[in-house]
Amino acid sequence: MTAIVRAVGIRKEFGGQEVLKGIDLEVQLGEVLCILGPSGSGKSTLLRCINHLETPDKGYVWIKGQIIGFELKNNMLCELPVKAVRAQQSRLGMVFQHFNLFAHRTVLGNIIEGPMQVRGVPRAAATQKAHELLELVGLSEKAEAWPGELSGGQKQRVAIARALAMEPSVMLFDEPTSALDPELVGEVLAVMKHLASTGTTMIVVTHEIGFAREVADRVIVMIDGEIRETGPADTVLTNPKDLRVRTFLSRVL
Ligand code: ADP
Ligand code: MG
Repeated sequence: MTAIVRAVGIRKEFGGQEVLKGIDLEVQLGEVLCILGPSGSGKSTLLRCINHLETPDKGYVWIKGQIIGFELKNNMLCELPVKAVRAQQSRLGMVFQHFNLFAHRTVLGNIIEGPMQVRGVPRAAATQKAHELLELVGLSEKAEAWPGELSGGQKQRVAIARALAMEPSVMLFDEPTSALDPELVGEVLAVMKHLASTGTTMIVVTHEIGFAREVADRVIVMIDGEIRETGPADTVLTNPKDLRVRTFLSRVL
């Protein structure tokens, strides 16, 4: 098996509060990992440490065997220059709760921006790829629309297409449906299910237990900055060993 993401001993504190208390995590090629847990348990911080939007206080993250944010120089780990970190981050697709589309660009413009600016992909090739991705997320007819003309579900599907355009090694989702009206959740989950079925490596922070049960190869439950339970979705969701995990799941199931 090939570990796409490997995190070892990740610790992070904010103003004396320990938010991540030593997280170890591995995600294999093509695996879908769902992270569940109460609000404030450190899920977003963990994703932000994985893509180095936050630097862990302790511990390291490897993406496809390459340590993120650091390089080895004379046997010492040194922080990478910002530009090199950005290049590494561009291999991690991130989809947030809020869509963060560029409001002053069309849907197509949003999708081709990264590949053209960061990767130097020619406009024609980037555009062709963008049309393929829009078809994948079911929005072929919206290429020339402005973000302001889209529903929340459509915006989130564009955000997914935009992340995929960078051909990421792994897709990180942070509660991608939490900000959506209930009737729009399904269309976004359907796209994510499709991605999972095509072998995309995914880490998904979600409160959608049904999605986790159906799609996740493995589920992690975080409580107070620790992984309290990990295993196949069925095992974790139906028969968790940890008492606090049971309490949490009994509230959300
Ligand atoms: P979750 O995503 O599970 O809801 P978070 O990772 O967002 O949890 O937050 C975990 C804890 O860390 C919370 O108590 C939150 O207030 C705190 N926290 C997160 N980011 C910051 C930050 N940049 N500065 C200070 N505290 C933060
Ligand atoms: Mg969060």
